[in-house]
Amino acid sequence: VTPTVGVDLGGTKILAVAVADGGEVLATTRHPTPRGSGPLLEAVVDVVAELTEVAGLDPATRVGVGVAGLVDLEGVLRHGPNQPGIVELDLAGELRWRLGERVVVDNDANCAVRAEAASGAARGHADAIVLTLGTGIGAGLIVAGTVVRGAYGLAGEPGHAVVDAKGPPCPCGRRGCWERYASGAGVARMARDAAEADRLEAVLARCGGDPAAIRSEDVVAVARTGDAEAQAVLDEFAWWTALGVANLAAILDPSVVVLGGGLIEAADLWLDEVRRVVPELLVGSEHRTLPEVVAAHHGVGAAALGAALLAAEPA
Ligand SMILES: [Zn+2]
Repeated sequence: VTPTVGVDLGGTKILAVAVADGGEVLATTRHPTPRGSGPLLEAVVDVVAELTEVAGLDPATRVGVGVAGLVDLEGVLRHGPNQPGIVELDLAGELRWRLGERVVVDNDANCAVRAEAASGAARGHADAIVLTLGTGIGAGLIVAGTVVRGAYGLAGEPGHAVVDAKGPPCPCGRRGCWERYASGAGVARMARDAAEADRLEAVLARCGGDPAAIRSEDVVAVARTGDAEAQAVLDEFAWWTALGVANLAAILDPSVVVLGGGLIEAADLWLDEVRRVVPELLVGSEHRTLPEVVAAHHGVGAAALGAALLAAEPA
C-alpha cells in the first residue's frame, strides 16, 4: 500500500487529506466549494496539487474522491442535490483527463463507511451501517465485509425512502422522506412546526421570534439548558432516527449501526432514546441480537479519509 490523497467534495466545502500507507494523516486542507462544474473540477485539481506538494508525495499518488449524491459505478455524478445545476457530470472521467488514471470516485457516505470500518466505530464488524445525519442523511452499507454499491452504484440512499406518504414535502419532489425527520434539517423543520403551534418559547426567543430562523443548533443549545419542549423535539428526532435504523436492521441485520454527522455532537441528548426505541420498532427484538447503535469515531473528516482508503484499494 502506498500513500494516497482523499477528497471530500461537499456542497459547501472541499476537505482533503493526504494519508500515509499506515493510515496516518500527513496533511489536511479545506477550501470553499465553487459553483459550476468547471470551477469545481479545477478546485479538485488544485487541492490535489496542494496536498501532494505539502505532504511531499509522488505526483502519481492515487486520488479518491467522495461526493454527495448519486454516483454510478463509472464515477459519474448522476444527480448531486448539494451541487446546484450539476447533473450527469462524469467526475471520474473529467478528473482522469486532468489528473491521470489515478483517480477513483464514489459517494461520500460510501467513503465514510470505509473510514469507520478501517479505524473507527465499525472496525471488526463484517455487517455494518454508517449513517451521517447532517443536513440530509448519508448512508454507507457493509454486507459480509464489502461496501454495497448495488447493480448501478446507487445503493444506500435511505434518506429519500418515504416513511410517511402524507408527510412534509421534500426538495426531491416526494413527501415524507426519512431525511425530513432524521437529520439536522428535520430537527429544524419539526422545531418550526412546534413554534408555529405556540410551543418552543425559549428556542423562539433565541431566534428573534422568527420560526423560520430556527436551526437544529438552536434546538440543541436550548435542550442543553434542560428545556423540556426543545428536548421533546430531539426525542421526536430520535424516534424517527430509530425508525430508519430499525427498518435498515430488518433488511440487513447488521451487528453495528454507526451514527455520525453534525447532530452526533449532541449525542448525549438523544442517542439513548434511539437505543430505547429501536427494539420497539424491530420485529422479534426479544429473540434476536440487536445491533449496537454507536456514535461515529471519525468526525467531519470521515469521507475524506475513506476516499483515501478507496484510492488505496486494488483496482
Ligand atoms: Zn426526498
